[in-house]
Amino acid sequence: MAKVSKSEKICSIVGCDKPSKRSFATTRIAESVAAKGLRIKDARARKTYLCADHWKIVKKAFKKETKAERMRWGH
Ligand SMILES: [Zn+2]
Repeated sequence: MAKVSKSEKICSIVGCDKPSKRSFATTRIAESVAAKGLRIKDARARKTYLCADHWKIVKKAFKKETKAERMRWGH
């Protein structure tokens, strides 16, 4: 019965099966992923998981969007 819990998630990017490093609400991260030319395996999943490599890539687009959003909202 001492089964290892499968809490470790796998990266949600198509063609990637590395363990995830970060998780995001899909609605928040989907645009940044697309902006980098990547695709999410299950776009309807509520959570998107990114491995360290893909987070490194997506982060750049994500940060840019977050900044733009802040400017738009004035804080
Ligand atoms: Zn990945």
